Amino acid sequence: MAPGQHFPMSTTSTSPTNLLNFDLPGLVAYCQSLGEKPFRATQLFRWIHQRGATEFAQMTDLAKSLREKLTTQACIEGLKILTQQESRDGTIKWLFDVGDGNAVEAVFIPEDDRGTLCVSSQAGCAVGCRFCSTGHQGFSRNLTTGEIIAQLWFAEHFLRRHLGTSERVITNVVMMGMGEPLQNYAALVPALKTMLDDHGYGLSRRRVTVSTSGVVPMMERLGQDCPVALAVSLHAPNDALRNDLVPLNKKYPLAELMAACQSYLAFAPRDFITFEYCMLDGVNDQPEHAQQLIDLVRSHGQGKAWCKLNLIPFNPFAQSGLQRSGNAAVQRFAQLLVDAGIVTTVRKTRGDDIDAACGQLAGDVKDRTRAAERMAKQRTISIYRAR
Ligand code: SAH
Ligand code: SF4
Repeated sequence: MAPGQHFPMSTTSTSPTNLLNFDLPGLVAYCQSLGEKPFRATQLFRWIHQRGATEFAQMTDLAKSLREKLTTQACIEGLKILTQQESRDGTIKWLFDVGDGNAVEAVFIPEDDRGTLCVSSQAGCAVGCRFCSTGHQGFSRNLTTGEIIAQLWFAEHFLRRHLGTSERVITNVVMMGMGEPLQNYAALVPALKTMLDDHGYGLSRRRVTVSTSGVVPMMERLGQDCPVALAVSLHAPNDALRNDLVPLNKKYPLAELMAACQSYLAFAPRDFITFEYCMLDGVNDQPEHAQQLIDLVRSHGQGKAWCKLNLIPFNPFAQSGLQRSGNAAVQRFAQLLVDAGIVTTVRKTRGDDIDAACGQLAGDVKDRTRAAERMAKQRTISIYRAR
């Protein structure tokens, strides 16, 4: 479904329409199909997203006849929670049931000046990066808009109740949970629009980040349809190594990816792209890799500073056969980038006592792609030395 289009509506359908699936224009269209004016949709949208309502009976400023109509034809249905785990550092991870043996995770990361929710976009992931536990699980299906937004809807209102506040708790959303968001574009965009909508969560474009392994054509569309902050999972400074680590690179190699980043900057709410770089011991963490990365960055952007590097210590898991770079290697790598004038941060690992750190989100996925089998057959990555 193209963005801007909405689910086909049938008022005679027997299964209730889950209103979490709609962004505001979608809800306007739905209300119109019930013979209601657009401002009714705005009221309804605010009840759902700003107040966390689950029952139409709560919505006392809507006409009783509309409430009754909605009760028979629609619902506000979140995801079933399988588990909730809280880390010593305050990070909370939820595992949600999305049916058919699939489960996805969302993680809340509290910090002094912000509250970030890490949201999943797919049950599993078809990209199959070697260092990612979701990738090793294979792919089951795309989440719907309702399933993506339900993670924020639930977490925000749960946390408000938990903390006894009516103020906003989640200030930032990162699409860095399970899945490749740009391979689920049609469902992603209405979810992002709901996050940004002043009648929804009212988050600033700068505080909503889509992280992608580099689906080049969809990066271009996102820039036009819904420009939010962009993070690109780079992980390697040359095509040979990136082909090994992020198989999507074979389809969209670095030259195309860098060009797509440059085009995105024309629309981006920030004047930089964040590159994520997972530090793998002996694989991509050597000084020559840092030098290649510096050359890659410098060969674009016409001398301007246009990106930030976020170095992520690898979070190991059993089947990966990879190891986390040592602190000294990470510091040396970071220093080389900083000396070359590239803004570089090393990500703090949060929630690792509950396996909530990057790339550890495993959920439970009914793999339709036999990824685990395929990956086990592949050769292990040899230590790559750039020349
Ligand atoms: N599919 C998207 C978003 C989800 S992954 C993407 O790849 O960007 C979110 C981030 O976690 C990505 O930067 C990813 O490369 C990183 N990541 C995956 N597995 C990891 C691991 N085991 N350790 C550290 N970071 C990991
Ligand atoms: Fe998919 Fe991202 Fe994991 Fe790669 S890192 S397998 S793109 S979720």
